[in-house]
Formats: sequence, C-alpha cells, structure tokens
Amino acid sequence: MRVPGIRARAVLLLTAAVAALAVAAAAPGCSWYGAVLTHGPGGERVVALTFDDGPSDATPAILDQLEALDVHATFFVVGENARRYPELVRRELADGDVVGTHTLDHDRWQALFDFRYRDVAAGIDALRAATGHAPALFRVPYGFHTPWSMAAVRSHGLRVVGWSIDPADWRAGATATQIADRVVSQARPGGIVLLHDGNTDRAHADRAATAAALPLIVQRLRAQGYHFVTVDQLLGVPAYR
Ligand SMILES: [Zn+2]
Repeated sequence: MRVPGIRARAVLLLTAAVAALAVAAAAPGCSWYGAVLTHGPGGERVVALTFDDGPSDATPAILDQLEALDVHATFFVVGENARRYPELVRRELADGDVVGTHTLDHDRWQALFDFRYRDVAAGIDALRAATGHAPALFRVPYGFHTPWSMAAVRSHGLRVVGWSIDPADWRAGATATQIADRVVSQARPGGIVLLHDGNTDRAHADRAATAAALPLIVQRLRAQGYHFVTVDQLLGVPAYR
C-alpha cells in the first residue's frame, strides 16, 4: 500500500480540523469554545423554563399562564423585539421573571463573520434601554457559536445558557399535549427547558400551543415533586451585572 504524501496528509488534517470546527460551531451544547451551561446540578428536583425570541404578541398569554401557575421563568429576549415591546420586557421583570439577552437581531452568521460579534453588545444595550438592567445571561441564536463569538460574549461578562430539554414547540402543528409530553419525558433534575414566546425578529408569533402546554407541564412535573426556578437560581449565578 502506498503511504500518502505529506501534501495529502496535510489536506486530510486540515479538512478534519475545519469539519470539527464546523460541527462544534453548529452544536448548541458544545463547550469547546467556552462553557455552555445546559443544566444545573442534578441533586434537586428543579427545572427552569426558558422562552426565546420574544417578546411578541404571543408573550402576554404566556405571562398570564405563568402568573396563574405561580411560576417564574427566564426570557432570552431579542433586542429588536425588546425595542418593539419594551412594556412586555418590563412586565416580565415586574412579574418576577428573569430577562437574558439573545442578541439584537438573531442573526445566525454574525457569530461567524463579525469577529467582534457586535450583535451581543447591541442586544445588551437594547435590554438596558428597556429595563435599566444589563443582563448577565446569554443564549446563542440557533446555538451557533465560534471561538471568537464566545470570546466576545465572555468579554461582556455574559454566561452562555443552553438547554437540556427541547420539546420543539416552534414546529408547525405541535400541539399542547405533544409539547407537554416531550418536556415531561425529557425532564431530569436540574434541567433547562427550551420554549419560545417569539418568532426570531418578527413581532407576530403563534405560540398558542406553547401557552396551552404550560399548565400541563407544570401540573405533571409538580406531581413528580419538581419545582420551577429561574436560570440564575438553577445555576447559582447573578442574572444581571
Ligand atoms: Zn432564538
């Protein structure tokens, strides 16, 4: 058998390195480029509900459900939507929910092409304008991250929050029962649940199934002895800077 030449080996090695970088960049829970916190300590029966991409016109119904259930959640807010609905972000805080940032405009490619990842700083500014608070919790749009985007995130004092329970509530046709079944079957002590109250950068979102799933999720998990906490409580870290 012929041993590959040095050039062929170099090409192979480079291809493997680029493939590894791409796979890691696209894997939401991958911590190669900095810690992504996907769950809390597993000792206690606690879970954290999180909502991404809002606020939108679907957010009030979700806040009403959370209030009725006496559950506090964590919202990863898109800055442009916070500018559209600052009163909804303020209501989240007033209700006792926690607000983190999900960049200014939920762009997938800025993590790759903007080496300073200015979308993160702009997202923080939008939240500070709406609430007077600078968030300390960050969720990456699409889970897509690179070594330089993670470095920028850290430079703003943000912790990156992933998830361990994904019921895919955003999928067209998902029913409340399906969403609740998926959450309950994936639930583990310390889990972080990924839900959505918005629709990337648009003001309108149909999240009726997500809102209707909340009482089912809360009642069924409470029956199993679970408590609901916010992400900062789950991880034992500050929510704001
Ligand atoms: Zn998102």
